Amino acid sequence: MEIKKLVLKGLEANRPIVIAGPCSAESREQVMQTATELAEKGIKIFRAGIWKPRTKPGGFEGIGAVGLPWLKEVKEKTGMMVATEVATPAHVLEAIKAGIDLLWIGARTAANPFAMQELADALKGVDIPILLKNPVNPDLELWIGGLERLYNAGLTNLGVIHRGFSSYDKKIYRNAPLWHIPIELKRRYPEITIICDPSHIGGARELVAPIAQQAMDLNFDGLIIESHCNPDCALSDAKQQLTPAVLDYTLNMLVIRDNVQTTENLSVLRKQIDELDEQLLTLLAKRMRISQEIGTYKLEHNMPVLQSGRYDQLLKSRQDMGSKLNLSGEFVDSIVKAIHEESVRVQLDLKK
Ligand code: PEP
Ligand code: MN
Repeated sequence: MEIKKLVLKGLEANRPIVIAGPCSAESREQVMQTATELAEKGIKIFRAGIWKPRTKPGGFEGIGAVGLPWLKEVKEKTGMMVATEVATPAHVLEAIKAGIDLLWIGARTAANPFAMQELADALKGVDIPILLKNPVNPDLELWIGGLERLYNAGLTNLGVIHRGFSSYDKKIYRNAPLWHIPIELKRRYPEITIICDPSHIGGARELVAPIAQQAMDLNFDGLIIESHCNPDCALSDAKQQLTPAVLDYTLNMLVIRDNVQTTENLSVLRKQIDELDEQLLTLLAKRMRISQEIGTYKLEHNMPVLQSGRYDQLLKSRQDMGSKLNLSGEFVDSIVKAIHEESVRVQLDLKK
């Protein structure tokens, strides 16, 4: 697969490429007002979801095809390009008929090879740019597989959107960034255009700016950011949408480094360190919970907290493991002792 840079007529030289607009098109007024404000701020590509993939039925599932003329009007009145999500061959037909300039395929669709193949078949011969979001699950091969399906259908004006990955444990992010995944994609396809979606990664207004900055530091090509003229009243993703004014401020605050070669390498490595530390701490927390359960057992069975035979064996076995992994004996000794000490403290606390 020979993926080249995305061609966006008239916008070739810009980094970041910015796509902005509401999560969903809700009404003609909301679309026109948001679009007018964004165009005034210099935004060149307007996004709005017409068909919305919602987790549960009964939520706002998008306005549907009646919203397409509103996007046409945005194009005519503001001169912006317009973009929307397609998930079925019927969407593709309607979107093309309505003169949409750019299509994206959402994360839930990207996770389904049957749906991806159907879309690839429906898109055959379409000559507008297509952006493929990462699948909801952290599976790089599935993401690449989706790109291959599009590429094999003869589509070459392709790019990707990194929107983070769903996980069961809710942490600070709505969708964990797992930066190493888009980074690996870029390593394999160095020319591919990668756009970051800080709105869906963060899931919260205050996280949009730092995530966007991280994406710029990692040399991403662009950003897709949700913006709504009245975010608090948005029918979908209200918590993560910015007003056009805040979006403009956020974009102006971004530091775009031209010479990203060295800082890029450094931040790639730092990202990996950040993710590993998070895993280490998560594992430690799990270990402490188990220690606590053991402590409860000891308490119920009237056993002492410290059993020296077990401790000696634990120190020795961890030393052996560590040396096989090329870790210094002193280092292993100090962390194992610190962890053990904390476990003992946790168990002693149960007696209080
Ligand atoms: C969206 O962009 O509004 C959207 C539904 O995104 P995702 O497919 O990333 O969840
Ligand atoms: Mn959204």
